[in-house]
Amino acid sequence: MENSVVMKFGGSSVETIEKMQKIAKRIIKKKETFKNVVVVVSAMGKTTNQLLEMAKQAAKYPSKREIDLLISTGEQVSIALLTMILNENDFEAVALTGFQAGIKTGGLHTKNKILDIDTTNIEKHLNQGKIAVVAGFQGLNDAGDITTLGRGGSDTTAVAIAAKLGCSAEIYTDVDGIYGVDPRLYPNAKKLDIISYEEMKEMAFLGAKVMEPRSIEIGHRYQVPIYVQSSIHEIEGTLIKEYTKVEEKSVTGLSISEKVMMVTIKNYPSYATDIAKLFIALAENEVNVDMISQTPTEIGFINLSFTAGADDLEAVDEVIEHIMSQYQNVEAVKNINVVKVSVVGTGMRTQSGVAAQLFKLLADNGIDFMLVTTSEISISYTIDKKLMKRAVEVISEKFGL
Ligand code: ASP
Ligand code: MG
Repeated sequence: MENSVVMKFGGSSVETIEKMQKIAKRIIKKKETFKNVVVVVSAMGKTTNQLLEMAKQAAKYPSKREIDLLISTGEQVSIALLTMILNENDFEAVALTGFQAGIKTGGLHTKNKILDIDTTNIEKHLNQGKIAVVAGFQGLNDAGDITTLGRGGSDTTAVAIAAKLGCSAEIYTDVDGIYGVDPRLYPNAKKLDIISYEEMKEMAFLGAKVMEPRSIEIGHRYQVPIYVQSSIHEIEGTLIKEYTKVEEKSVTGLSISEKVMMVTIKNYPSYATDIAKLFIALAENEVNVDMISQTPTEIGFINLSFTAGADDLEAVDEVIEHIMSQYQNVEAVKNINVVKVSVVGTGMRTQSGVAAQLFKLLADNGIDFMLVTTSEISISYTIDKKLMKRAVEVISEKFGL
């Protein structure tokens, strides 16, 4: 659709009626430049958490279908109120639930994916000159049940609608844009003007919390320009797009995951079948294993280390107990005082020596690491929590983040 834009406002931007009145002004202003304005909103403030809390009080194992029904109400409150406010300001607007906006989903309740969007209804309202205010985070499945898209899913709703309409998505949030490194960890951090989809995806998966990773994936696939900016200050934000050759940097960002646990299993048999047995057991316990390394000790035995999310502690314990009951002399050491520091940049693909520079930098600063992994566009190190601040400082300084 020619001359369209999707604006998305998160929970903190619609926390109160007053805040909604403020963003209504920005929406109205947008309508001066764009013929078609679609607005996607999240639930007010911490509503989703509160609803989930109530579900927990109602039942030990609340049914997922009903959880979806319950938590999807949060967004419906926001769209109704915001639309009333727009109307009150003499602007024609219409509130649409996920279903009314044509959002078709599939998958498991509380973790649905958008399969397709039939934008006929949205377009009908836009063609009548109305601002379409769509509930984020929700859709309808084949069975006709209301579904939700997983936490933070409103970003996905916004980007998917923009993909379908062939326009950009503007994400309004409580930060000023995307930073190369979290300013709370490194106060000198610089805001990025642009970042590539790939880098943003990698940073989001690695722990940067500004945007929901799946929304970037959709943006990438359909080449939707995504503009992340402050909902409070009217200043330049960050554009997520595909780089041109000149725009590529070797290192764009640094991301930290603090909720990491490292497990080392000593004197484990080195045979592939035994190793497989361990990782199958971890997978069956839904432990998301991240980095893995092994070092031989004596013939036929290894020390095997891996990292997982700190939330998986109990599940990991169960597996270890099971493994130790099967093998003698096996010893397990868990370390929760570790963090994962990841350096991200698409330039790594073509520019050599980034890894070498990093290893030297860490060595020169006495920062020992336990595990290393690389992807095509990132290098991650597991280090002691105590060394995190130092690592962030030296890496950020070196690469001007
Ligand atoms: N309200 C939902 C959540 O809190 C969706 C979103 O905010 O994007 O996860
Ligand atoms: Mg969000």
